Amino acid sequence: MACISLRFYEELNDFLPSDQRKCAFEHPIKPTQSIKHLIENLGVPHTEIELILANGESVGFDYLPNAGDQISLYPMFESLDVSPLLRLRDKPLREPCFLADAHLGKLARYLRLLGFDTLFFNDAGDSRLAEISVKDRRILLTRDRGLLMRREITHGCFIHALDTKEQLTELFKRLDLYRLVAPFTRCMVCNGSLNPIEKATISAELPKRVGEIYTEFRRCSDCAKIYWKGSHYRQLMEFIKTIAPAAFDE
Ligand SMILES: [Zn+2]
Repeated sequence: MACISLRFYEELNDFLPSDQRKCAFEHPIKPTQSIKHLIENLGVPHTEIELILANGESVGFDYLPNAGDQISLYPMFESLDVSPLLRLRDKPLREPCFLADAHLGKLARYLRLLGFDTLFFNDAGDSRLAEISVKDRRILLTRDRGLLMRREITHGCFIHALDTKEQLTELFKRLDLYRLVAPFTRCMVCNGSLNPIEKATISAELPKRVGEIYTEFRRCSDCAKIYWKGSHYRQLMEFIKTIAPAAFDE
């Protein structure tokens, strides 16, 4: 049977059984099967792959492997310089916007707090999520690799970590979001934009202690929720400084 040699790098190994991780292994090929289908059959969503090398040359998803090929697969990884080689898709959008699946609501709220346009629905099915991701050019965030294997998805991102702060760290690293942080600009609840508002016009709506301590307020243009830089906000900023110190250079 005709075979090729495959080697997956970095976090792509998380999708493979242990005997195929971090080593080259032989895999049979079928005459008309593209490399994209072959790697998705192994359980690795195409959205996670940034670069495919066949015998040292970069190839696209439609490449038909030949017997004896040595194929290397690399993940989306900003720190890996693949600029001289063919990337499989455009670079992430300059101002990335996101769509989080139903299991990533907490991550969605954190992203909004940091200023990233992030949609989140409790009840949207896979086909609806795929449709919105494609129509709005939103990066689909999920821990469901089957969802990322849908043919129509071009910008998706598998979230490996379970802890929300680790998820943020992972996403910042992968998409190089550090310089795009714009805290206090977007509503955590509904993703609406926050606008400055005079304290005098809302003082009746504020908890007494908040009215005494804080001077700067913003209101969501969509749901009217009022925001101030309280303890929750400060804690998140301290955390973000640990993963993205460059975002706070003045
Ligand atoms: Zn809102």
